[in-house]
Parts: sequence; C-alpha cells; structure tokens
Amino acid sequence: MTASAVQELLPQITMDPSRCLGCRSCELACAVAHSTSGHLYGAISERPLPHRRIVVEQVGEVRSPVPCRHCEDAPCVSACVTGAMARDEPRGLVLCDGDKCIGCGMCMVACPFGAVWHPPETRRAQKCDFCLHLPSGPACVAACPTRALRLEQVSAAARRKRQAALARLLAGEWPAPAAPGAGLTGEGGA
Ligand code: SF4
Ligand code: SF4
Repeated sequence: MTASAVQELLPQITMDPSRCLGCRSCELACAVAHSTSGHLYGAISERPLPHRRIVVEQVGEVRSPVPCRHCEDAPCVSACVTGAMARDEPRGLVLCDGDKCIGCGMCMVACPFGAVWHPPETRRAQKCDFCLHLPSGPACVAACPTRALRLEQVSAAARRKRQAALARLLAGEWPAPAAPGAGLTGEGGA
C-alpha cells in the first residue's frame, strides 16, 4: 500500500478553530496521558511534570490547538540525522524514538507547525504519538468538550467542509475571498 493510500485510510486529528473555547482541556489531557501514573492526581505530583504535546495558540481573538499533521513527507523526519524521528509506515504515523534522539533540536526547527518539543529535563524530542497506548485513542480528542478536535478521515473532514459551504450558499452567504496564504493551516489539512 502506498503512503498516500495509508493516509487516506487513517484518521487524522483535525481542528476547527471556530469551535475552540481556549479551555486547554486538550493540553491537560495530553500531559496526563503521557504521565507515569496516567491519571490527573498522580500526574500533578510527578517530577518532572509530564509535558503536553499539543498547545493552544491565540492569534487575535481566535484560539486553537495546532496538532501534529503526521505529514506524509515530514520535514521533521528529513531533518533527523539519527533516524529517531521516523515514519511508522504500517500506521502512517510519524513517531519519535527517544532512545535514538541526540537532542540536536533540528526536528523542532524543521516542523512547520511547531509540533515538536524538547523538554529541558531530557532534551529528547517529544511529539504526538496518537496516544497509541490508549485503547480510546488520542486523549486530546476525547477531552475536547466542543469537538473542536476530531478524529476523522481527511476525506470526511473535506465532506464536512463541502456541506458547510453548500449550506452557506443555500443561505445566500458566500465566504469573502480568502486572503493570500489563508487556509494553509486550517482544519482538514493533511
Ligand atoms: S512534527 Fe511537524 S513536521 Fe513532523 S509530522 Fe508532525 S507536523 Fe509534520
Ligand atoms: S479542549 Fe477543545 S475547546 Fe478546549 S482548548 Fe482544546 S480544542 Fe479548544
């Protein structure tokens, strides 16, 4: 199966900034999911504190998390000299092997979404691992109260976009022309 075919079958974490409250439940759930204890009360007493791998950013009035896109031609993988950052081909995910990481930070610099962290305590790259250890899937998605984060196939996200565009058309609303560069980081991306 080609990488493209795998990507099409796999769900992605998509985000919808128009639904985000900025509550940061996704950040907290991510940190707890990657803690040693695996639960909130244990996590807050751990040292070092567990780190989140998704961060809510704010631009103007809009807040939204910016999840890893598990890019097909991932810049973080290309930048990694040790093979620590690699594509997990059967699952189509980009994962990091901390044991191979030398902490050079090149993946962090290369990622266009700022989706790699190097905690100072370990200086080993950390990124979204799709919560593969959790049967329920990505903790950020489960924690989001407004479904600003969803786990869905990219084709399903595109379908929602089409339906929303059709509804606006039927209501006589046509979106204003996009500004140059708009849409590069919005919901439903790769
Ligand atoms: S960490 Fe960044 S470059 Fe790497 S797969 Fe995720 S979004 Fe792409
Ligand atoms: S949990 Fe949902 S609503 Fe809250 S900050 Fe994250 S994406 Fe936004």
